[in-house]
Amino acid sequence: MKNEDISELKELLGTPRKIVIVPHKGPDGDAMGATLALKLFLEAQEHHVQLISPNQYPDFLKWMPYQEEVLIYENNKERADDYIEEADAIFTLDFNHLSRAGEMQESLEAADSFFVMIDHHQQPGDYANITYSDTTMCSTCQMVYHFIEHLGYAEKITPQIATCLYTGIMTDTGSFRYRSTTSLTHKVVADLIEKGADNTTIHENIYDTNTYSKLQLLGVALNNLKIVEGLRTAYITLSQEELDRHNFKKGDTEGFVNYGLSLEGIVFAAIFIENQAENMVKISLRSKGTFSVNEFSRMHFSGGGHTNAAGGKSHLSLQETVEKFISILPEYKTSLSK
Ligand code: 5GP
Ligand code: MN
Repeated sequence: MKNEDISELKELLGTPRKIVIVPHKGPDGDAMGATLALKLFLEAQEHHVQLISPNQYPDFLKWMPYQEEVLIYENNKERADDYIEEADAIFTLDFNHLSRAGEMQESLEAADSFFVMIDHHQQPGDYANITYSDTTMCSTCQMVYHFIEHLGYAEKITPQIATCLYTGIMTDTGSFRYRSTTSLTHKVVADLIEKGADNTTIHENIYDTNTYSKLQLLGVALNNLKIVEGLRTAYITLSQEELDRHNFKKGDTEGFVNYGLSLEGIVFAAIFIENQAENMVKISLRSKGTFSVNEFSRMHFSGGGHTNAAGGKSHLSLQETVEKFISILPEYKTSLSK
């Protein structure tokens, strides 16, 4: 963080403020961990804080400290808009473009507030008064740790805050295995364990709470897994009918895309998930090495993210989306063979 930003933040947070904190739509472990941790930290500094999520978060995060205090925008628009309108400051975490806030976008754009962005995705927008953006960071949770450290309050990290931050670092690094995991990440995580994060319990809460129907759905996904010969690419499809048949709930497909990437010789994996209610196909993309799924998604599927993990969407049918995907791939033959 820049020194002038730290001074400005210290001044802003020097007196009790009304603060709104926002994660991206479809919040994951990092988005929820970062926003909950920041909320707990700021509340301990006497600020009045409201965390507003654009939509519902997945069940596998419903054990996190104070998650029950999160206001869901889609279900409480009027109340949420009042908080946004009255906020002295709005912190947006784990995203860098207001279009990622779903239906909250309009109210956020209209808000006459002081915006602070904390985020690790590529190509940040310029809507914030203070932009703390670092694309080398494994997670927004690690950035919130450094944010608290920069303000001089590392010793104020409680076991609850440590639990939230550990959760996001663990989920965004695929349990400390992606290339974005550095020695500094491990130092931060070690400190979070010392400050009270119960690492074994957090792992169990996130990864060992599968339902029978989720494992059955995984079976369908693995059956649908296809390899694109000669292009080191694998993809999975899940139709609305398949999701319905297995009682699909938000979060159930988390991590499925990684199975494609675990195949020997595969460097690019995709999953296409039909969403009839929103009239679209949600796409998750993952890669190994230098092939940028961020660029690929920006170019072809109205999305973005990181070099090795990105998301996007398509308004074609499921089958047409897959056909489009397969027809584009040969353009990338050289980068996929590296
Ligand atoms: P996932 O595939 O797990 O949904 O997302 C992978 C990464 O890409 C995450 O960091 C997520 O925030 C980002 N991402 C997912 N969907 C979108 C999207 O539609 N647009 C952008 N810009 N980023 C996305
Ligand atoms: Mn993240």
